[in-house]
Amino acid sequence: MERVSKIDDLRKIIKSKKMEGCRIGFVPTMGFLHKGHLSLVEESRKSSDYQVMSIFVNKIQFNDKSDFDSYPRDPENDSQLAESAGVDLLFTPDDSEVYEERLTTVHMEKLTDNLCGAHRPGHFDGVFTVVSKLFNMIQPDISVFGQKDIQQAVSIEKMVKDLNFPVEIVIAPIIREDSGLAMSSRNKHLSDEERERALSIYRGLEKAEKMLKAGERRSGPITQAIEKVLEESNPQKIDYISIVEYNTLDFIREIERKSIIAIAAFFGNTRLIDNMIIEIKGNEITCVY
Ligand code: AMP
Repeated sequence: MERVSKIDDLRKIIKSKKMEGCRIGFVPTMGFLHKGHLSLVEESRKSSDYQVMSIFVNKIQFNDKSDFDSYPRDPENDSQLAESAGVDLLFTPDDSEVYEERLTTVHMEKLTDNLCGAHRPGHFDGVFTVVSKLFNMIQPDISVFGQKDIQQAVSIEKMVKDLNFPVEIVIAPIIREDSGLAMSSRNKHLSDEERERALSIYRGLEKAEKMLKAGERRSGPITQAIEKVLEESNPQKIDYISIVEYNTLDFIREIERKSIIAIAAFFGNTRLIDNMIIEIKGNEITCVY
């Protein structure tokens, strides 16, 4: 595995790989890698020959300074994990390399109005700006994002379409602990007791699946049932439990087509997100989470 932190060095290597005819796969991350991140590389390898991963804790997407300051970092361990996952090129720029004298921001209407967009002002502008810059630096043929951050994944697909980036976006499944807790770098901040209580998010999704399979389609009763499950575990705060249409991320009262149940809640000071994608074909309902 090669490791670079300068854009010029990155470009030279990628150019030569493209000359060799390689299809470039790209996985952007903020590091403190876990199996969820590594699964994205595996997914990327299915349809590309050369795997690039970036590790960059993107300050401008943090709406809360203490969240940025305390974001877990472990560059040495990340490097080992990336190499063991088959990353060919690890890109670890510093802040000045990415953002020197920037005056441009990428902003999107509508898709960021609800869910995390409503609770984290400026967050998605920061995400779209860094992802656009990384796409321009790396010029990947495909890039893989996790369902875990579903609003991010859906809106990046839209950004790529809107701005004509020549890259295919793939959305990969959520990787969970055996307990059901969705893997996340922020899980490091959870005490054992908070980690146990946080399982209520997964139990809430299980409850929703049961209700859907029993024929319930109204958003109200489903979100109320999830809220009840969550409240039993005493979260610090629930940001949202929402049901939205998949493509528009608009709130819906009835689930009639591809939709998402999305949850964000704090356990202690740690904000966790999780979700389920619901697909309906005739009488068949599939819940992916
Ligand atoms: P992050 O480092 O948290 O910015 O995440 C980088 C990428 O990894 C994003 O596309 C996330 O959606 C994805 N990701 C994070 N956690 C998981 C998980 N548990 N399973 C699958 N993908 C994940």
